[in-house]
Amino acid sequence: MRTLLIAGNWKMNAGPTEAKELADGMVAARQGKDDSSDILICPPFISIPAVAESFSGSHLKVGAQNVHTEDNGAFTGETSTSMLNDTGCEYVIVGHSERREYFHEDDALIAQKAKKVLTDDLKVIVCVGEKLEDRKSGNHENIVRTQVKAVLDHVDANNADNFVIAYEPVWAIGTGETATPEQAQEMHQFIRSLLADAWGEDEAEKIRILYGGSMKPANAEELLSQTDVDGGLIGGASLKAESFSDIIDIAE
Ligand code: PGA
Repeated sequence: MRTLLIAGNWKMNAGPTEAKELADGMVAARQGKDDSSDILICPPFISIPAVAESFSGSHLKVGAQNVHTEDNGAFTGETSTSMLNDTGCEYVIVGHSERREYFHEDDALIAQKAKKVLTDDLKVIVCVGEKLEDRKSGNHENIVRTQVKAVLDHVDANNADNFVIAYEPVWAIGTGETATPEQAQEMHQFIRSLLADAWGEDEAEKIRILYGGSMKPANAEELLSQTDVDGGLIGGASLKAESFSDIIDIAE
């Protein structure tokens, strides 16, 4: 059985002071709970140390929302894997649709980032997902296949333990619109079949595939109960300790 991963993506919200308060609230909400799921928060870079401090001694983990492909040097505004390791990060999200859309990250760059993250002993969460027009035209599987394969072409099967995919239909992100449980299951199963083609059934069975896009306490149960949905990547609902904690309770 795969261990569920409940991950919060705070996006560009919560500077260090607010992040510390929010993270403290989450630690308090999970205090004394024997969670079997992995629980992760990915704050903005600048708030990672504050969240790491708050989470130290708890079972909550901290991650990053992005990373650069080089170790150091003249790359103004960028952050490297070694810096993330230094702050206690365990996971890095790459290829979020907002990075693809607003920062023009393409499949080749996302593959490079995923490879760098894995090489430097961090776990990667690779985001994929189609836009509304692709869903409407029935092209959603082709889009997701291209996104997944671009990364699998550059990553070996021996990274399976540290490899997570998040399926986030772009039309469901921050819109209040969610994929139906059937739509999520269908796409997750399809993604797992792509993993099996590349790395074999056994490895594919180990890999966690998260659903993202307006997941909240009201819809978490039906999404998380799908066979191939192994957790959530949660934006809006991870900005309140109570709603994030409610989703973890549902996962447990
Ligand atoms: P949302 O964001 O939960 O606010 O839709 C999810 C994400 O973008 O990761």
